[in-house]
Amino acid sequence: MKLQTPATPAPQDAEARRAIRPTICYPIDTLPQPDLAGIDVGRAGAEKIGEVLVPPRDARCVAVPAGGFFRITCTEGSQVGDLNLWNATDLKEHFFSGKTRALHGTHLSTGDRLWSRLPYLRPMATIIADTLDWYGFDAFGGSVHDVIGTRCDPYTGRLLSGSDYHYCCHSNLTRALADHTGMSLTEAEPLVHDVLNVFMCTGFTADTHQYFMKASPVRPGDYLEFMAEIDLIVGLSACPGGDCGDEHTSDKAACHPLLIEVFHNPAFTHEVPPVNAYDRSHGR
Ligand SMILES: [Zn+2]
Repeated sequence: MKLQTPATPAPQDAEARRAIRPTICYPIDTLPQPDLAGIDVGRAGAEKIGEVLVPPRDARCVAVPAGGFFRITCTEGSQVGDLNLWNATDLKEHFFSGKTRALHGTHLSTGDRLWSRLPYLRPMATIIADTLDWYGFDAFGGSVHDVIGTRCDPYTGRLLSGSDYHYCCHSNLTRALADHTGMSLTEAEPLVHDVLNVFMCTGFTADTHQYFMKASPVRPGDYLEFMAEIDLIVGLSACPGGDCGDEHTSDKAACHPLLIEVFHNPAFTHEVPPVNAYDRSHGR
């Protein structure tokens, strides 16, 4: 946080230093681009192979094969979802929201990819459709589907309010992963990770640069759709914040279910991206 009255006086060339133009940390022109047109053809011939309804203030996991598709749909009312992805055959490889943010920006939409953590760093899923892509950025600097936030959790709740709430996205995803895999809660919890905030509308305030949320513009029928780049376990929590217009980490907000549908087209050939080619010698 910036102090109102800084302790250090500004140097004479302060304005010149501030005027240096920024440069993009990670230009992505060299990234291999997804073949969205080819994917669309594969998607058009796909049939539904499963679905799961995620109850409010709870989470579910579902398996999606490489080259398959999954769609997250808002059903009965505005609702935000916290998404985790794991490699179905090696749960240590999971979604890396921080590097995804560094590559694609704070909010994701069609064509952006969800990357896995180091040392794997490969696309786990590609966004292929987004019915909220019209939203763009609003006058507050807010947009949808962020990779800024982490996930609501009982530890931060205890830190800030001193009370325990058990149906935060972190706990919901922990229970869902444990139920899906047969692991204990203790084994599952460390595998839960920072999320893609599906449908959530967020940004940073212009004055204090604090993370803000506002009521999601999502309405029943809206969806976000992905192609699985590798065999996935997809975990989704219907956040206790509901549309996240007011508060989370409590039972106060109106909450609704979210639908995950899985589609597959056996005739669609998909090449699974290899794990990152860095040799991991780290200079030794
Ligand atoms: Zn949440």
